[in-house]
Amino acid sequence: MKVHLIRTIDFTDSHFDNVYNLLSAYPGAIEFIQGSIVTLPSPNGEKVFPKPENFEKQEKFEVSDYNMVSFFKSDENVKRNYVKPVFPYKKSYYEWNIFFDVINNYRKSYNIDENDLVFLLTNEYNEKNWFAFIDDAFKNIFVHTDDWPWFFGMNTDIRFPISYEVASWILRSLLYRNQSEIIENIHPTSLGCVNDFCQNKKEIILKMRTADVCEECLKLIERRDLPPHYLNQLFNIIDGIRSNLMFRKRVGVVFKDSRIRIDLQAKKIYLIDFGNLAVRLNPKEISLFLLFLKYPEGIALNSLSDYHNELLNFYHQVSGRDSLIEMNNTIYLLANYLEGELNTTISRIKNKFKIELGESMAKNYFIQLLPSGVHGIPLGRELVVVENHNK
Ligand SMILES: [Zn+2]
Repeated sequence: MKVHLIRTIDFTDSHFDNVYNLLSAYPGAIEFIQGSIVTLPSPNGEKVFPKPENFEKQEKFEVSDYNMVSFFKSDENVKRNYVKPVFPYKKSYYEWNIFFDVINNYRKSYNIDENDLVFLLTNEYNEKNWFAFIDDAFKNIFVHTDDWPWFFGMNTDIRFPISYEVASWILRSLLYRNQSEIIENIHPTSLGCVNDFCQNKKEIILKMRTADVCEECLKLIERRDLPPHYLNQLFNIIDGIRSNLMFRKRVGVVFKDSRIRIDLQAKKIYLIDFGNLAVRLNPKEISLFLLFLKYPEGIALNSLSDYHNELLNFYHQVSGRDSLIEMNNTIYLLANYLEGELNTTISRIKNKFKIELGESMAKNYFIQLLPSGVHGIPLGRELVVVENHNK
């Protein structure tokens, strides 16, 4: 089965990449495909949440209320960072059908197989304020990607709850036959089951922390004879997310660094044990990073020009440039302690790790002053794998 992930532009490129990497870290018969950006028409109107209680509620939905209205206009979407809502909170919203129409158009333009699932990941609000829902054809799903920090805390790594939603909706698409069956069977009272409805949205924390399936749902899975290889993969994802959520809670008590895999072609560093979270470095940054990895005892910054040739060699491998003179000049500037280029590059690398991992978890991965008085990367080298597909 193929599962296509598409997004609106407000759900950023790096979050999108990270959700895809996390889901793909659990290989199996379900293949995830990273699709492109889609544009929504104008919103259907504005929704007002007078108080947090309204904002934290998924509204009631009867399948029969569902009217098929859709209209298309062009709209500008903007990138934004999470800002906590202030109440009364006013948001423009979309009817679910608009999301599903946009997905159907995408299916047509990209010739997506009718058996494939397509997920639209979007920060835009939906009419009933739901985390996610599936269309009546049972192949198109939207997932709300905003506001996770409101429920899980400001430092939440949002790719975990978003990936959980994707996995649990794949499961539901296999388990149930239509929208009415979902509405009838989903648990109105939270049991810590993957099929809890969570009308009070805060209860989603319980569902994701337990990552369990109740007796009743297990029986249904058995009766409906779901393909075991799909189930295995989906439960691997769901369990993986749970252990990561728990792991993050325990950080500080039990601290353990992740293994890293450096992909020289993609110029990304994957943190294997943090669900393949990716840190993207540019060729200069990755060359410097590789040099410091090679010398666990560290290098004094003012002697970096002694390592010119090694640095040039790394840069040659990753930059994709041809002119030796230009490459030589770039590395000359980088390795020259007096030029300022070195410090800028070191601090960019540091910031990239901090943005992805947060202050406390990032501390061993970037180039920093070691207790010995020279610069280095504290990470245990047994945790490092370098991958070069060209070789
Ligand atoms: Zn259940």
